[in-house]
Amino acid sequence: MPAYPLSENTYTVDSSKVFIPFQRGIDDIRNRPGSLLVDIVPFLVQTKEYNIVIDPGLGLKLSNGHYHILDNLKRHHLSASDIDIILLSHLHKDHLAGAVMEVADAMYPMFPNAIYYVQEGELNDALSKSSSSYDRKVIDYLLQESLLRTINGNTTLKDCIQCEISGGHTPYHQIFIIDDGSANFFYGGDVLPQPQQLIRRFVAKYDYDGKHSADKRIEYGKRIAEGDLTVLYFHSALQPMSKVSYDGDKFMII
Ligand SMILES: [Zn+2]
Repeated sequence: MPAYPLSENTYTVDSSKVFIPFQRGIDDIRNRPGSLLVDIVPFLVQTKEYNIVIDPGLGLKLSNGHYHILDNLKRHHLSASDIDIILLSHLHKDHLAGAVMEVADAMYPMFPNAIYYVQEGELNDALSKSSSSYDRKVIDYLLQESLLRTINGNTTLKDCIQCEISGGHTPYHQIFIIDDGSANFFYGGDVLPQPQQLIRRFVAKYDYDGKHSADKRIEYGKRIAEGDLTVLYFHSALQPMSKVSYDGDKFMII
């Protein structure tokens, strides 16, 4: 079962939560004070039966007018209609906005044949907030078209996808373990968005509960090392996938 990063490249984002494209080696982060550098990397996982996209990303277009994620899928000989399942770790717009496309001011599902899975608690929490981290128009459209399938708590989908609530980044943020017998992937969303976060204990200000996220990373790191899982990192374009080892004291990225 292969997994492929579908990188949408790199952006800077400040407190306005607007994502501005950033070219490594050309742009200088010092010219964007108060900004964080953010890579966006959705994933394609192909089990024997399903084409799965995890967190479809920002949904931005390339200069040729094509949606970045669809161009990425084309490189794997897939079109939008080949995708069966969209897994959503949480509903922040950098993870969700690519679930839809806009044509002449009208919205359409980016993946017309897919079911979009999200935790019910995450949906309710997002709907109760007026934060610029969410694109409410996208969430409202998905709801109105009944495209979201809500799940409640830890759940196994299609016999091969484990959905587990992690909390931490948002109260109902979930992680995914996909195991079809031939390979075993761990996707930690924004609780484990970059490999470096396993090396250094790190409490993030952008988390709902940063301490809980930090504790979860250690718990997950041990499970990943023990189970020999391959980790998929959403915010790490330079190293989007890795294995992890643990010597009883610290983690190493392999
Ligand atoms: Zn994120």
